[in-house]
Amino acid sequence: MPRHSQILDTERKPELGPLPAPTDWQTQEPVALLKNVLRLTAPNPGFMTGPGTNSYVVGEALTGYIVIDPGPADTDHIQRLWQACAHPDGAGGNIVAIVCTHSHADHSPGALPLQTLCIQAGTDAPPIRGMASAPTARANSQFVPDSALHHGETLALHPRAAHTGAESHTLQVIHTPGHAANHICLLLIEDGVLFSGDHILNGSTTVIDPPDGNMADYLDSLDVLHASCLAHQVEFIFPAHGHAMPNALGAISHLKAHRLMREAKIAAVMQANPAGDPDQWLALAYDDVNPRLWPVAKRSLLAHVERIQMLQISTTKP
Ligand SMILES: [Zn+2]
Repeated sequence: MPRHSQILDTERKPELGPLPAPTDWQTQEPVALLKNVLRLTAPNPGFMTGPGTNSYVVGEALTGYIVIDPGPADTDHIQRLWQACAHPDGAGGNIVAIVCTHSHADHSPGALPLQTLCIQAGTDAPPIRGMASAPTARANSQFVPDSALHHGETLALHPRAAHTGAESHTLQVIHTPGHAANHICLLLIEDGVLFSGDHILNGSTTVIDPPDGNMADYLDSLDVLHASCLAHQVEFIFPAHGHAMPNALGAISHLKAHRLMREAKIAAVMQANPAGDPDQWLALAYDDVNPRLWPVAKRSLLAHVERIQMLQISTTKP
C-alpha cells in the first residue's frame, strides 16, 4: 500500500484559474510534500516556466538523496539544493544521484554545478543520470548523462546502516517521449507518487515542439503512465511546474481527452480549409485561446497536424 498518510503539505486543489503569483512559491526554503520528498522551486518564473522549475529531493539523511531536475544553473538555487540534501550531522551534499527528466534549459543545466559542489566539499561525485538527448534536440537542449537510464530501471535508496525506522525509497524510470524525445518520468513506488517532469503540468499546457516533440509519442506515453499509475496505486502527481495534483488517473485521462478534443477540432478545420496554411488553421482551431499564446500553440498545432496526416496515411493504405 502506498504511504499516502505521510503527506505533510496541504496542497491546494489544481488551479483552474490563472497561475498563482510567483510570490506564492517558496524558492528560499524547501517545502516538505512527504516525509521523504522536498520541493524547492527555482527562481525562474516566466511565460514558459510558470511559477518556476520544481526541483524535487527524494530520500532522507540515513539513505542519502536523489535530486530530480536541478533546474537552471542558478548559483543560489544549486547551493540551496545542496544544503537540502543533509547528512545526519547536518552538512549538505548527501546526494546519491542527480536525475534530469529531460534536456531542456530549465531542467538539466544545474546538474553539473550541483555535482561540482559535492566534489568541492570532498564527497564522491554523484552521477548525473537521465537519457541522452536525441539528434532531434535543439542546440540549447543538448544533454549527455554520466550514466544513461533505461525504461523500467529502478533507482533505490537504502538505509546505509541498520537504523530502525529508516525505509527504502525506490524510483522507477518510465520513458515518456512526446514533450522531448529523451523525457522520463519517475514513479516513487513506496509512496504512490509520480514525478511527471514536463509531460504533465499543473496550471499550464505542455508544449509539443516537433521534431524533438512528437504528438503520437506524447499520447502513447500518457497511456503508459496511466497503466503504471494504475499498477502502483499512484494518487499524486508532482509536476515540474505547478502544484501537486491529486487523482492521478483522472488527471491523465482528462489530459488525453483534452488533447484528442483539440486534435478533432484541428482536423475539422483542416478539412473545411484544405488549401489553408497552419496560421489560418491556428486562428480557427485555437479561437478559444488567448492570441498571446498562439506562437507557442502553433508548435503544438504542427505536432497535431503531423499526427493527423500520419493517421490519414495509415487509414488510406490499401
Ligand atoms: Zn520545464
